Amino acid sequence: MYIIMVASECAPVAKVGGLADVVHSLSGELDQRGHTVEIILPKYDCMRYDHIYDLQIAYRDLWVPWYGGAIHCTVWFGFSDGRRCFFIEPHSQDNYFNRNDFYGFHDEVMRFAFFSKAALEFMLKTNKRPDIIHAHDWQTGLLPVLLYELYQYHGMQQQRVCYTIHNFKHQGVCDEEVLWASGLQRPEYYGNRDRLGDDFSPRHINLMKGGIVYANYANTVSPTHAWEARHTEQGYGLGHILHVHQHKFGGILNGLDYEAWNPETDTLLPHNYTVNNLDGKYANKIALCNRLLLEEAYKPIIAYIGRLDTQKGIALIRHSLFYALDNGAQFVLLGSSPEARINDEFWKLKFELNDNPDCHLEIGFNEELAHLIYAGSDMVVVPSLYEPCGLTQLIALRYGTVPIVRAIGGLADTVFDWNDEHKSPNPNCQRNGYVFYDATPEGLESALHRAIGLWNSHPDIFRRLLVHGMKCDYSWKQSVQNYLNAYEHISVTKV
Ligand code: ADP
Repeated sequence: MYIIMVASECAPVAKVGGLADVVHSLSGELDQRGHTVEIILPKYDCMRYDHIYDLQIAYRDLWVPWYGGAIHCTVWFGFSDGRRCFFIEPHSQDNYFNRNDFYGFHDEVMRFAFFSKAALEFMLKTNKRPDIIHAHDWQTGLLPVLLYELYQYHGMQQQRVCYTIHNFKHQGVCDEEVLWASGLQRPEYYGNRDRLGDDFSPRHINLMKGGIVYANYANTVSPTHAWEARHTEQGYGLGHILHVHQHKFGGILNGLDYEAWNPETDTLLPHNYTVNNLDGKYANKIALCNRLLLEEAYKPIIAYIGRLDTQKGIALIRHSLFYALDNGAQFVLLGSSPEARINDEFWKLKFELNDNPDCHLEIGFNEELAHLIYAGSDMVVVPSLYEPCGLTQLIALRYGTVPIVRAIGGLADTVFDWNDEHKSPNPNCQRNGYVFYDATPEGLESALHRAIGLWNSHPDIFRRLLVHGMKCDYSWKQSVQNYLNAYEHISVTKV
């Protein structure tokens, strides 16, 4: 198959969050299976140019219709980690992608609506006719709309769109201006609530909604989150339209990059280990204690690694720290928040607990320390309020660290409670952690209590539990197959 990814991020050249990793890993895996994959990105001035090989002009004069005129663009080509990437560089006084940052500007919707249009215009003019265009998140929600309302009449009637939503919170809600700019016009037609009209802001356009309505297949990044988006407030108002289009909406679990995250070969670890020889894991625990000045005691280490964002359950993270300390465990936290208020709260906590030999808080982002914590800890806690997929629990499983998670989104699809008597639906990874339901201190404690209890009273069984986790397969293998099934389905049927 010939697949073109259109996205606002791709690791490592343009990475802000998980979207970048998905585009990077999925493209690589598809390529390895013999498919032709190209990626179209904006040419940001702040990209990691040191990760682009052989950057050269691919198409010098691309004129992209915009308002009544057109914007002159240059399209560049280069390899990033082996992936074939095209970068669109518009030349206009708007300077859409020369802002010294990826996101956060007043004309955000216009920037990415233009990018979506330019990507299609580039395919049209260079005779690229992929079987599948895979668009991601609100930034490219307008792409399937433009394809089916305009570009199919210029010779792109065979192309099919897969549209993946990584985060429902940001939907690209804007006024009608974007319709005039992109050449769609007819605000009364597109503004209809069956199409792009936002359900909550009258006379506003919702780009993500457009992506869902016009794509041939739409998905989010785990089956449980797909259900939550339709049936709960986690769809941020898109539940109704997802319901209307349920026949073409689903959830495909993200995978984990098993090459980057491999305790056997991880160069950031002082000691490597495998599921058959865990000595290195225990040596890493000692290394972690030394590194963070924790007392070397016969106690389990519980860790939290992640953004300190309300989404992640700040109060429960805090509660797990104190519960661990009160119940004979040690606690390590690595995280930071863009919100000063939350950062201050954790800095204060860090000072309060400064002399406690059983805990360490590291406020900031530290990739290398994250690897050591995953390897050296006994358990990782993930008490999120919502979690479309989540990587933390997947990394923990891979490193033999028992995840303690709230049963929502991708967490519910990947972690199964050790005490659950019912067989898990996934034969690969039955009972690999601890799960709780209520986002309350009592809910969290119900899982922490059992995990700490097993570690203390049955170390042999605890070891069996962590081995179960290490034997799970959450690589991209299955996820890529699921995407391929979706691609194949939509390329033979006109949904
Ligand atoms: P989200 O994408 O919502 O932040 P995920 O669980 O999907 O959450 O992914 C988070 C990733 O970022 C994990 O790989 C985690 O290890 C990493 N990470 C988060 N915070 C930090 C930090 N402070 N230092 C190092 N790695 C971090």
